Amino acid sequence: MIRYTLRCERGHQFESWFQSSSAYESQERRHLINCPACGSTEIERAIMAPQVVSKKGREPARPAPPLPSRHRPVNRRR
Ligand SMILES: [Zn+2]
Repeated sequence: MIRYTLRCERGHQFESWFQSSSAYESQERRHLINCPACGSTEIERAIMAPQVVSKKGREPARPAPPLPSRHRPVNRRR
């Protein structure tokens, strides 16, 4: 079972369980899913991955790993 966060054309969000992603797609295509708030069958999947955050400054400041010295670009013009 997969839980999807869905959103209707009017922006209502709700969650629903599906057997699989293909089960969701076939139900969505046949308009078998409707919004519990307004009854619309124009449903799309909302972004549900919590790590997808567009806010800036969320990522912890991580120092870049030190490059091995042999990878450092060397100007060898003669
Ligand atoms: Zn709705």
